[in-house]
Amino acid sequence: MKVCRFSFNGKASYGVIENGVVYEIDDDPFSGNPVDVKKKGEGVRLADVRLLAPSMPSKIVAIGLNYKAHAAEFNKPLPEEPMMFMKPSTAVIGPEDAIIYPSHMSHRVDYEGELGVVIGKRAKDVNVEEAASYIFGYTCFNDVTARDLQGKDVQYTRAKGFDTFACAGPWIETDLNPLDVRIETYLNGEKRQDTSTRDMIFDVFKLVSFVSRVMTLLPGDLIATGTPSGVGKMKPGDIVEVRIEGIGTLRNRVADRLSA
Ligand code: MG
Repeated sequence: MKVCRFSFNGKASYGVIENGVVYEIDDDPFSGNPVDVKKKGEGVRLADVRLLAPSMPSKIVAIGLNYKAHAAEFNKPLPEEPMMFMKPSTAVIGPEDAIIYPSHMSHRVDYEGELGVVIGKRAKDVNVEEAASYIFGYTCFNDVTARDLQGKDVQYTRAKGFDTFACAGPWIETDLNPLDVRIETYLNGEKRQDTSTRDMIFDVFKLVSFVSRVMTLLPGDLIATGTPSGVGKMKPGDIVEVRIEGIGTLRNRVADRLSA
């Protein structure tokens, strides 16, 4: 099932997508109750709605260096435990929204295509074996990073936290095996990243369990599971796409601060 948030006639709603048609659903799927997919009305053509970021997370927990080849490209040793950092909820944008290049502070802004895990119910001290039942579904995520500031600052907060630096979408796929899906990133149509999630150092279920032992995860929260090798810089005017097998394509453009 594909669950989305969308805007139509000035109103934002949750919906399910079937055969190119979006049907509004009754409930907020992140209310903590099982999803009520009772469809309302006739539906609207997907092409006629504006898709929004698929959840409104209270927080985004991101994982650094979770693919061996990516650790190698930065000459970093493999982590013994997942390396966590956070991105603010205010950084979230949806499909087709603009990534605003923070040229007042940074001159090196990179894409990081990642598998995003969307939490479905409150998760605290969850075992690896039960982690799947806390996951609502999966989405494409771009962990946009001011690479120059990541090197300059001790903390990642500024480098990872600018407004528009957390691209999520285009929807949430609830039926996906996250242990072996292909993840690709394209810059202006050219392939830059291409890996399977089976190359993760810590898989999705280990990550949900690990993070939940540090902080309580709430419905709608996002875990960005780390980027594979092939990260690179973007500039205003570029189009960046994160494509994940079984989910779809998240597309964003990069805009200059002044013209956005
Ligand atoms: Mg990342």
